[in-house]
Amino acid sequence: MVNKVVIVGGGTAGWMTASYLKAAFADRIDITLVESDRVSTIGVGEATFSDIRHFFAFLGLKESDWMPACNATYKLAVRFENWREPGHHFYHPFEQMRSVNGFPLTDWWLKEKPSARFDTDCFVMPSIIDAGLSPRHTDGRLIDQPFDEEAEEMQGLTMSEHQGKTQFPYAYQFEAALLAKFLTRYSTDRGVRHIVDDVNHVELDERGWISGVRTAEHGELTGDLYIDCTGFRAMLLNKALDVPFISFQDTLPNDSAVALQVPMDMERRGILPCTTSTAQDAGWIWTIPLTGRVGTGYVYARDYLSPEEAERTLREFVGPAAADAEANHIRMRIGRSERSWERNCVAIGLSSGFVEPLESTGIFFIHHAIEQLVKNFPGDEWSDVHRDLYNRSVEHVMEGVREFLVLHYVAAKRNDTPYWKDTNTRVIPDALAERIENWKRVLPDSENVFPYYHGLPPYSYMCILLGMGGIDLHHSPGLDLSDTAAARREFAAIQEKASGLTKVLPKAYDYFTRLD
Ligand code: FAD
Repeated sequence: MVNKVVIVGGGTAGWMTASYLKAAFADRIDITLVESDRVSTIGVGEATFSDIRHFFAFLGLKESDWMPACNATYKLAVRFENWREPGHHFYHPFEQMRSVNGFPLTDWWLKEKPSARFDTDCFVMPSIIDAGLSPRHTDGRLIDQPFDEEAEEMQGLTMSEHQGKTQFPYAYQFEAALLAKFLTRYSTDRGVRHIVDDVNHVELDERGWISGVRTAEHGELTGDLYIDCTGFRAMLLNKALDVPFISFQDTLPNDSAVALQVPMDMERRGILPCTTSTAQDAGWIWTIPLTGRVGTGYVYARDYLSPEEAERTLREFVGPAAADAEANHIRMRIGRSERSWERNCVAIGLSSGFVEPLESTGIFFIHHAIEQLVKNFPGDEWSDVHRDLYNRSVEHVMEGVREFLVLHYVAAKRNDTPYWKDTNTRVIPDALAERIENWKRVLPDSENVFPYYHGLPPYSYMCILLGMGGIDLHHSPGLDLSDTAAARREFAAIQEKASGLTKVLPKAYDYFTRLD
């Protein structure tokens, strides 16, 4: 029976994996996690997808159990600033797209254009975000929308099983280091053996399978299954087992980031409950509000900008509050391992693959990988079927997200610097080029987006196409022959609902302080 697991690495990936496997298999699995105190964790990764709530639910945790310990806030959307032109912004919200007479409301919007903003016309969330509000009432009730929280939690479905059925209205933002600490306690309380040491050699047997990892001070650690959570180093999968890495650099050129953690009085400043991505001359800056500070960073391509210039731009963007914050310069490895599961080794996290953090997909990749690992866990034999299904699923998720991110740059209207001009001529995946041609005439739907599960529903693509403004879109011709009354009623109902909610919801900051 495969039930002895060694996890190398104690970042977000290592501890999410350890705690999820314990929640899934309890004492029937034996887990050792070894992490180095010499090699630091990446130190970023603070915004998530709305599906992350299934992770905490699986661990049996309520928001009040973990959010205060991790300085966590709600994220209702990604806000894109200046991607179209200076001063312009739009939201990609966590909110299900409405349909009227079989057409998505965005299609009706292209025809009717009640205002210049598709996001506030078609969704309720943008108005709530602009007002800095919580998606829960003071008594904890979720905003009034078609969503039965409890019934959904009872079903215990995985992320991919949920997709398309519902859209939960928010995700979380948290301090990565505090989450790792919280999950360390969760895991060790449930029996995970925690070793702080350096792994300096990976032993292979005569078949080329891993037989142990040698540590500096704790000797050799052995198991049946080895999980590589060593970050961009990918010490087990890419180095010891020699699995090739497929770079995405040709289509996604951002290869660097500089990050700052900026302490701020969030009570005074207030919390805009979203992650903001502000386009810059050679990339974009993220802004993530937490309860005690803001996390921010410039993601850029070294072909266009030096690390010194990136840091200077970031500090100017943040202002005087950044003066004492230490800069964390990061070199990103963009792409995926050809196979994330090889022999008796599974890589999870940055060791498996990574695309730039434009839509906060890193932790989603980890969550997805763990769900798939549990689903395909080897049992009493190593079956190629389980391994191949796992690898295919991980490949699909990363390739799908890659397409979605490339779309951001292709669709952005911004065209004022060499970096943005080159987005017009850079190679894009063939299938995406064809899909974009279709989307000019028929907005994305489940039949014409990337065909495998990758966490992004068709409405997400619509938001990017409509918000970025660089691609000419046409409403469906059938709408010209249709009665518009129902669509107009829907647009009016959204305005009414948004205006009602902004009057009664509490401020986001006030809501978190009462979770303590
Ligand atoms: P790391 O954090 O690098 O951890 C590696 C671990 O391996 C450490 O514990 C280290 O000590 C250990 N280790 C390494 N070598 C050895 C050794 N020889 N012996 C023992 N231990 C060893 N994701 C999101 O979802 N949302 C975001 O907003 C987001 N923003 C990001 C921004 C940037 C700039 C980057 C680069 C990534 C971002 N990500 C984001 C991705 C996210 O940060 C990662 O997916 C997540 O932190 C997981 O990292 P990890 O655990 O795989 O690696």
